[in-house]
Amino acid sequence: MTDTTAFHSPDQLAAAAGLASLKASPRMPVLFLGHGSPMNAIEDNEYRRSWQALGETLLARHGRPQMILCISAHWLTRHEWALTGMAEPRTIHDFGGFPQELFAQQYPAPGAPAVARELAARLDAPALDRPVLVDESEWGLDHGTWSVLKPMFPGADIPVVQLSLVYSRPAAEHFALGQQLQALREQGVLIVGSGNIVHNLRAMQPGAAPNQAYDWAIEFDQHVAGRIEAGNLQALARFQELGRVAQMAHPTFDHYLPLLHAAGAVHEGEAPRFFNGDFQMAAISMRSAIWGDA
Ligand code: ZN
Repeated sequence: MTDTTAFHSPDQLAAAAGLASLKASPRMPVLFLGHGSPMNAIEDNEYRRSWQALGETLLARHGRPQMILCISAHWLTRHEWALTGMAEPRTIHDFGGFPQELFAQQYPAPGAPAVARELAARLDAPALDRPVLVDESEWGLDHGTWSVLKPMFPGADIPVVQLSLVYSRPAAEHFALGQQLQALREQGVLIVGSGNIVHNLRAMQPGAAPNQAYDWAIEFDQHVAGRIEAGNLQALARFQELGRVAQMAHPTFDHYLPLLHAAGAVHEGEAPRFFNGDFQMAAISMRSAIWGDA
């Protein structure tokens, strides 16, 4: 057998060799992170500090992920799901009206093109009704991804692949796609859903304290937390049953869908742990959850 390790770093080998390059591992946890304001990426606040601590804890307890698969609220595709397939995904500053310091942020984590290509083929399941595409030039890492990963893993040395959200597809299909990601957890892949359990930008009240929130925001947040706590994860896809409360919590539901992908990747009986269970500007729930970290 030829020893190629003298010539290639593990990351380079992973990028070249596809899913087979991901070694069997103890099961990685699954994360859903409420990301809130893009400013959380650079402000020294409780959220950013929690992400910094989380990264350190994950490395200590579970070892270094071989790859991070992130489902961000900010990458919506029209008809087909897509995976980022660039070797060097660009850092996308997909927001406006923020200080220059935020636009100057970079997160130069490598991609994993061969893994993305193979994963796209594997995820091409009949239940999805659509093939999964590999995007080699358009997207990159949007702020739903880098604003949380940069504090967690500041070295930017773990390959990151993003999975898009097809906004027009039923919520249950997003959960079903998450279920297909389960097995990756035993191959060193850290699955991260990044959105918010309540997200109504029009109702935001700048200056509201973290424990202040609208009644509908608290009601929706508590309802979702209850379902997560009870392990009733499939039911999360039926959030629109809550009618007006759901509409107020999510005038558009892009920030809710990443929760479904994360929840789908959870095995039955895995207990959740919540953190950051408060609100930004009264209308954004920062509630986050980790499964498989008991
Ligand atoms: Zn967002």
